[in-house]
Amino acid sequence: MGHENDCIFCKIVNGDIPASIVYEDDYVLAFTDIGQVTKGHTLLIPKKHQENIFELEEDTAAQLFRVAPTIANAIKKAFDPAGLNMVNNNGKAAMQSVFHYHLHFIPRYGKDDGFQPHWEDN
Ligand code: C5P
Repeated sequence: MGHENDCIFCKIVNGDIPASIVYEDDYVLAFTDIGQVTKGHTLLIPKKHQENIFELEEDTAAQLFRVAPTIANAIKKAFDPAGLNMVNNNGKAAMQSVFHYHLHFIPRYGKDDGFQPHWEDN
C-alpha cells in the first residue's frame, strides 16, 4: 500500500526494510521507534502514504484514532509507564523529519525518564 519510492515508512509498510511491528491491520501499522526517546516509544502510521496532518484524509484519521487507545493500553501493559505523550510533528518547521504521517506514543516514567521537551524547561 505504501507507494512513495523514497519514503522510509512506505518501505516498512511494504516489508522492504525491517521494523519491530507491534500492531497491524488493513489500514494502519504500529512499530517501535528506532530512536527510542523513552522505553516503549512507538509510532502509529497509516499504510497509505500521506505526508502530514495537512494531507491526512478523514477516513485515515478515523482509522488511526480508532486503534490509538489499543496501542496506548498495550504500551501501558508492557512497560507500566506513569503517563504517555502522544505527539505529531507536521512540517519541517515543526520538527517533522519523516514525511509520512506518524503519531508518536512516548511513555513517561517521571522526571528521570531522560526526555525533556523544550517546553518543559524547569
Ligand atoms: O516526528 P519526526 O518526523 O521527527 O519523527 C520521525 C521518527 O521516525 C523519529 O522518532 C525516528 O526515530 C523514527 N524513525 C524510525 N525508523 C526509521 C526512521 C525514523 O522509527 N527507519
